[in-house]
Amino acid sequence: MDEIHVDVLIIGAGPSGCVAASYLHNNKKQVKVVEKSKFPRFVIGESLLPRCMDHFDEVGLLDVLKDYGFEIKRGARFLKGDIVCNFDFSKKHTEGWDWTWQVTRADFDNILATELVNRGVDISFEHEVVGVEFNEDGTSKTSIKDEQGQLYYVHAKHIIDSSGYGRVLPRLLGLDKPSAIPAHSSIFTHVKDVRRPDGEEGTLITFDVLDKDTWLWVIPFSNGDTSIGFVGLNEFIDAFEGDTSERLQSMLKHSKYYNDRFQGLEFKFPPVCIKNFSKSVKQLYGKGYALTGNSAEFLDPVFSSGVTFATESALKAAKLVTKELNNETVDWEEEYTGYIMKGVQVFATYVKEWYTGNLQTLFFHRPENPEIKKQICAVLAGYVWDDTNPFVKKHDRLVKNLAYLIEMEEKEKANQ
Ligand code: FAD
Repeated sequence: MDEIHVDVLIIGAGPSGCVAASYLHNNKKQVKVVEKSKFPRFVIGESLLPRCMDHFDEVGLLDVLKDYGFEIKRGARFLKGDIVCNFDFSKKHTEGWDWTWQVTRADFDNILATELVNRGVDISFEHEVVGVEFNEDGTSKTSIKDEQGQLYYVHAKHIIDSSGYGRVLPRLLGLDKPSAIPAHSSIFTHVKDVRRPDGEEGTLITFDVLDKDTWLWVIPFSNGDTSIGFVGLNEFIDAFEGDTSERLQSMLKHSKYYNDRFQGLEFKFPPVCIKNFSKSVKQLYGKGYALTGNSAEFLDPVFSSGVTFATESALKAAKLVTKELNNETVDWEEEYTGYIMKGVQVFATYVKEWYTGNLQTLFFHRPENPEIKKQICAVLAGYVWDDTNPFVKKHDRLVKNLAYLIEMEEKEKANQ
């Protein structure tokens, strides 16, 4: 098994790698997936967006996910003190899915990978990519360490790097670039949600906004556990003393809404702290490779866009690779970078405007404007390529300008 030849080598079996592998396998391409961990394995990223249902559906992975019974997510709730801003995905500007799931990722990713293995996709778990060499024509030779520490080599016509925070090709090829998103960090765990209220309140995904930079996510799962996590500036995350469990317990006291429900509950694993999570790269593709998912770009968890971008970019990359393998011409700059960055830039604006406070002004302004809410809701559902939505097409101006007008109006009212 020293040397293997395939059409496409996929690095990583997360949602991005699995969607890419499924598409290529369905299109009769010879694929090998190499995954560093043993599945099931924990990873963060538990709140999905409706848009990603299109991707799982298109590659034939939706039914197997439906069978599991993950918690249904029909919208998202944002709280600021007494003000509640509820988004309902059935009331959105763009046509498309009006529900998705809140998922335990260990189970979710394991279902995807197991299904692919059952369909005959070659996935090697506990195999780690450690090096790569590209030839001038874009073909490559990748060095992989197996579970016994033995090296072997995969020759591929294309590589799809879906290695998430492993960021394999960005590291090996020096493609990392500082993110334009302000630096934030996070601390999170799961709890056995023994004080979960009955009804919708118990299962609602909620973002409790403590201040402009600091918020708590609450993501209830169908197994009775709930994911809780704080996001804030490093100064906030570092200001608490003790180990990660003590720090998270102290942080919970800052959430008036959730402290009683979660205070003192046993954490299912020691809270994980990820610092400066936003990532970016100099380029999304090169001759013989494409970066997808977190390996390419990660903005911020506030709008739960990570998995959806991971599957959107994986599906697009897999389609373009298939075209090339079928000897069709591909304009990677336009068809891949142009397409992906259009969506990334919309979300990047929303993330930036969240932390300037402008978007929070729109969310928590009363009375609500139902038409504007529908348009923003379509963005939050992941439909960020729909130019009929003014909040997509003019994303760079609309949020800022509207927030300005609201603030002017409020100042005027205060002066009357
Ligand atoms: P992953 O799911 O990370 O999979 C990559 C795989 O590659 C891993 O299994 C890894 O073991 C493997 N790998 C790594 N290195 C190697 C190697 N050298 N060789 C072989 N295999 C390798 N997203 C959401 O959609 N919703 C959320 O609510 C959300 N919350 C988040 C909260 C925080 C604090 C953070 C930091 C992120 C959050 N995200 C969220 C983002 C989400 O985690 C990612 O966008 C998503 O997991 C990306 O999927 P992926 O398939 O690209 O990578």
